[in-house]
Amino acid sequence: MPHWTDERLQNIADVCAKNEFHIASKLLNIKESTLERYLREASVRGIKSEAGEIENPHQPNILILDIENSPSIVASWGIRKQYIGTEYIVREWYMFSWALKYLHGTEIYSDVITPEESLAGDDKRILENLWKFVNYADIIIGHNMDGFDKKKMNSRFIYHGIDPPSGYQTVDTLKVARSQFSFTSNKLDYIARLLGLPGKEDKGDITRWLRCMEGSQEDLDKMHKYNRGDITLTEDVYLKLRPYIKGHPNLGLFGNSEVDVCYKCGSVDIDYLEGDYYYTTVNKFKKYRCNNCRTIGRSHFSAITAEDRKHLTVAVAK
Ligand SMILES: [Zn+2]
Repeated sequence: MPHWTDERLQNIADVCAKNEFHIASKLLNIKESTLERYLREASVRGIKSEAGEIENPHQPNILILDIENSPSIVASWGIRKQYIGTEYIVREWYMFSWALKYLHGTEIYSDVITPEESLAGDDKRILENLWKFVNYADIIIGHNMDGFDKKKMNSRFIYHGIDPPSGYQTVDTLKVARSQFSFTSNKLDYIARLLGLPGKEDKGDITRWLRCMEGSQEDLDKMHKYNRGDITLTEDVYLKLRPYIKGHPNLGLFGNSEVDVCYKCGSVDIDYLEGDYYYTTVNKFKKYRCNNCRTIGRSHFSAITAEDRKHLTVAVAK
């Protein structure tokens, strides 16, 4: 598909960002329905226009999310092999801050508790603000999203009597790292650096977390900045890992494309591989390579006819 070059999409995006849609259609001499497809492709490729964000009504709301919590403070008779009962909890953990962005979006949204809220362990205000984004999300991406962020968010939502969000699918980059690779470490910063990304600038240490609990504005500011920094890093790592992710939510279900799109990124720029099939025990399907995200996917439709299937034999179960 040679006409779907990044340069051409960039040009179209710029014209559309500066003009109303029907005027852009006339200026570019492209039919409105075709123009919509171009914009959709520009959006899935993360092409940005200096004149503004490209609206893409066919894409799901995909969030990159990360939260920072306080530790719990507990009383202890020692530091080795302790069993700490719940009666030894001096202060329960709570949320310091959250940060998120839309995939390929330019803006990072975030919130942090005030020193007064921190001293009181009161994160209700920032949880209510976070809920507004989570409730409208279709997919949330995060490092340890399933094991940590999702459960921590839910714990605070229910604690404050907040309704469950409407529901979303998740992509947990930590699970991907563990299941598809054997990196020496699965920490976000380590994976980022290994893959040639800048990594975290500021790692902080436990004393910062404790000073935040004591209501230090300076440390809460640092926590907030640190949290926001993790968001872009998580997005970059997700995009690197993306072609290897198994079980990714199907973006094709959110649009109404009249052509085949990559299930993982929504791009129409996919090439079916000649003579290369995906086999199940009783069926085979055409495979494709996505030129945008490099994923290998397959058609949902069988590549064998009902006539061919008549001659298939299979194993017996018992
Ligand atoms: Zn793709």
